[in-house]
Amino acid sequence: MNIHEYQSKDILRKYNVAVQRGRVAFTPDEAYKIAQELGSREFVVKAQIHAGGRGKGGGVKLAQSPEEAKAIAEKMFGMRLVTPQTGAEGKIVRRVLIAEALDIQQELYVGIVLDRSTSRLVFMASTEGGVEIEKVAAEMPEKILKEYIDPVVGLAGYQARRLAFGLKLEGDIFKKGVAFMQALYKAYISSDASLAEINPLVVTKSGDVIVLDAKINLDENALYRHPDLAALRDPDEEEPLEVEASKYNLNYIKLDGSVGCMVNGAGLAMATMDLIKLAGSSPANFLDVGGVANAETVKNGFLILMSDPNVKAVLVNIFGGIVRCDRVATGIKEALSQIEVTVPVVVRLQGNNADIAAQILKESGLSFIVATDFKECADKVVSALKQ
Ligand code: GDP
Ligand code: MN
Repeated sequence: MNIHEYQSKDILRKYNVAVQRGRVAFTPDEAYKIAQELGSREFVVKAQIHAGGRGKGGGVKLAQSPEEAKAIAEKMFGMRLVTPQTGAEGKIVRRVLIAEALDIQQELYVGIVLDRSTSRLVFMASTEGGVEIEKVAAEMPEKILKEYIDPVVGLAGYQARRLAFGLKLEGDIFKKGVAFMQALYKAYISSDASLAEINPLVVTKSGDVIVLDAKINLDENALYRHPDLAALRDPDEEEPLEVEASKYNLNYIKLDGSVGCMVNGAGLAMATMDLIKLAGSSPANFLDVGGVANAETVKNGFLILMSDPNVKAVLVNIFGGIVRCDRVATGIKEALSQIEVTVPVVVRLQGNNADIAAQILKESGLSFIVATDFKECADKVVSALKQ
């Protein structure tokens, strides 16, 4: 799960990571009040959206007084912020972070992610902070230091020191850098994060090591252990259809093709998406209705995928292993009786009770294109789409 910068910073503070002072505002008046309370010489007003690269898009602005912070916030609220990460449609700003501006001496990069090839967390650090780390990785990979973490030992002292040394920190700043690495690691593990990116971590002119920007992703599968973190979800930042699907425990991910898919089992769903591609089109979504699909879940799944205006044809590809095809057929029939379907629907129901399912669909009086083979169903949906 993605969370906002200010929420990531709140988590880090709890684990004694040194973080830039600041608070979130939902209105210009709040922005003014927070700036006044911070009482610093200069402020930074930062749009809170689930995307990076805000600086480039005009979502990070300096202010010299609480009045100016308020005026900047006023302009930011409601603005459609376009950054290299949002796509052309941008994201609407509904929250802004008002923080104490820092006198930056140096911008560093520090990140933690899971490296799946070694099954370990990897700590990454670079002196090339502030800029796009992807660019550094592509053009100067030697500028990114890596430390792989033994899950039993955790981040060892010598590793934290090696990272700080690699960042060319010295003296007192070196010590603060080491403490930062250890506190960041503690925060990551304790909150069951799946990613932490501090870009930039800054060394200030007064010799402090402080988090200026933070991005933390939380492991959805561990959220049940952290009700306080689960509450950080911001539905405004999520795909509305995905939010709707999560209410019914459906695994739905919106994509940008035109073939709506309803499949059971993640493996079959992935294979179905591949076959649609091979047949010459693209899937509009991933939808796994699960092994225990009943008429109700199928109906909800169908309604969700049909409410995507990009869907120009639908492919239902269900293998009845545990699931019963007749229940799926009933669900499809119910869904189709509730909405007007103007696009072609290809159905492949194979396995458990497939014959009863075929009968249900036939008697429904609705028009389906029926397929039996896997490749055949993908070919049929793509040719129906093209007509
Ligand atoms: P991002 O563009 O979404 O990654 O947002 P960041 O929080 O990383 O800010 C982008 C850039 O704005 C930073 O790399 C800094 O150069 C600049 N910036 C942000 N906050 C401050 C601040 O407090 N003081 C100064 N001088 N610059 C800042
Ligand atoms: Mn940043």
